[in-house]
Amino acid sequence: MLTTRPRGTNDFLPGETEKWQYLEDLLRTVCREFGYREIRIPIFEHTELFQRGVGETTDIVSKEMYTFFDRSERSITLRPEGTASTARAYLEHKMYALPQPTKLFYMGPMFRYERPQAGRYRQFHQFGVEAFGSSEPAVDAEVIGLAMEIYRRLGLNGLEVHLNSVGCPNCRKKHREKLQEFLIKNLNEFCPDCRERFEKNPLRILDCKNAKCQELSQGAPTTLDCLCPECGEHFDKVKGYLDLAEIKYVIDERLVRGLDYYTKTAFEIIVKEIGAQSAICGGGRYDGLLESLGGEPTPGVGFALGMERIFPTLETQGINISIEKPLDVFVATLGDEADKVGFQILMKLRQEGVKSEKDFLGRSLKAQMKHAGRFNARITIIIGETELSRGVVVMRRMDTSEQIEVSLNDVVKVVKENLF
Ligand code: AMP
Repeated sequence: MLTTRPRGTNDFLPGETEKWQYLEDLLRTVCREFGYREIRIPIFEHTELFQRGVGETTDIVSKEMYTFFDRSERSITLRPEGTASTARAYLEHKMYALPQPTKLFYMGPMFRYERPQAGRYRQFHQFGVEAFGSSEPAVDAEVIGLAMEIYRRLGLNGLEVHLNSVGCPNCRKKHREKLQEFLIKNLNEFCPDCRERFEKNPLRILDCKNAKCQELSQGAPTTLDCLCPECGEHFDKVKGYLDLAEIKYVIDERLVRGLDYYTKTAFEIIVKEIGAQSAICGGGRYDGLLESLGGEPTPGVGFALGMERIFPTLETQGINISIEKPLDVFVATLGDEADKVGFQILMKLRQEGVKSEKDFLGRSLKAQMKHAGRFNARITIIIGETELSRGVVVMRRMDTSEQIEVSLNDVVKVVKENLF
């Protein structure tokens, strides 16, 4: 059907797009204040980038990518997330030669072939930040603080930072052995996905949404039990900086994140809704990522947040962010000559930054006045034939219904005086 959009995609209509613009402006403002600068990465990349940078065992890569061959038989994938591309760009443009850390943000559409449901789409939008080049725990706390500052400015309540550390490859090796030892006892009772994960990536069994698997993995050894001294100290410092910034958090040992490149800090921001809770932001440290893409070992930390999820959450909490500006001036005209003069005035007003409109359907004067009412215009300029012959127009302030005659030559100036 040519009049039906593909499943899992959205059209954002006027009325909604203003809310998106408000959100985007807010994100840019907070990033500027925190020293994160915008990077614009391609919508599609070589498929290998995501296979390597996100990880073959993740659901994203194994089940959800939009992958196709282009006309030169290259395997191309629509980006399912932003971190791999940002890391690739950091290496490609040798940003490591800049003073470190390099602090970047991006926003835009991502594509995943998931089963669409409320809050889950095939084309959705993420905003994310990445700080490359510093392993300092203060940066972990800064990115968590940045996400929380965004939500604070939006006025959202009931948010919880869930925090964990998944350690470094050494801690993970130790944890993997302990975990497999624990899980093997009841392995047959786990879901088929988890049985497969047992060999490939047993950590992700802790992340399984299946209730039975969650029950079976209760009491499993946690990554926190297996942290080496360095990772333990890093985690303590992250908590210390969060305390300094007065950001509350809860330790969540089951929080392991689905992606392979995460090291040390893992976090999610959860919004508690009536009877349920859902993650609106997820991130962490990925000190192994740049090396796995072929760069020098380079630490990094960041997060991505889903932009679509913000709007229903705001609505549930009764927060209205619509900031549609009313129309300043409606120009109503009677007759052909007046219509031409009206068009000229309209264009001049716009040059002066005045939000203005006229009728474009040849409506009667009465209908034009009704139309002006729909726009909720602050001022209406009425140009009739008799006024025109005297070189004047009528200016009506819609709040007081006060009307004055203004000389044609002065109309833009007088309108501005009355508006600003
Ligand atoms: P992830 O990249 O999977 O860690 O997801 C980060 C955030 O992006 C999540 O917390 C969601 O808010 C959002 N998100 C992920 N997948 C989708 C989707 N299919 N539709 C809408 N939002 C999504």
